[in-house]
Amino acid sequence: MQVYVEKQKCTGCSHCHDVCPVGVFEMKNRDGNDVNTDSAPADAQWNGTVDKTVKDKWSGKDDGHNHFANSNDGKTGGISVAVNGPSCILCQACLVQCEGECIVINDEAGSTYHSVYE
Ligand code: SF4
Ligand code: SF4
Repeated sequence: MQVYVEKQKCTGCSHCHDVCPVGVFEMKNRDGNDVNTDSAPADAQWNGTVDKTVKDKWSGKDDGHNHFANSNDGKTGGISVAVNGPSCILCQACLVQCEGECIVINDEAGSTYHSVYE
């Protein structure tokens, strides 16, 4: 299984990290040198710029946590990196809780799954 985050769209909500039963995701500092150490293609790597549509939707939203914070405070913040994609069991828990709708999973059969916030 290949799992990656389209990082310009990641709000840092940490939902993926919190729900994944097999530890696919880690939250990294946005300015850290390990933020692009997964299998995301070049156009999905973090380049310092938040996607405007996602930023407009979430930056003013008061849902109990920070959005687009540089670092993780133990609950939210930072940016999600799929460091352990091969362990994914396709439970789909992350796919319905991703604020940025920015998780992509490619399975061995050639199917692609994209997160949709519900
Ligand atoms: S679909 Fe995969 S990456 Fe997402 S929560 Fe389930 S095991 Fe983790
Ligand atoms: S659930 Fe989506 S928006 Fe939230 S931290 Fe994970 S990848 Fe980023």
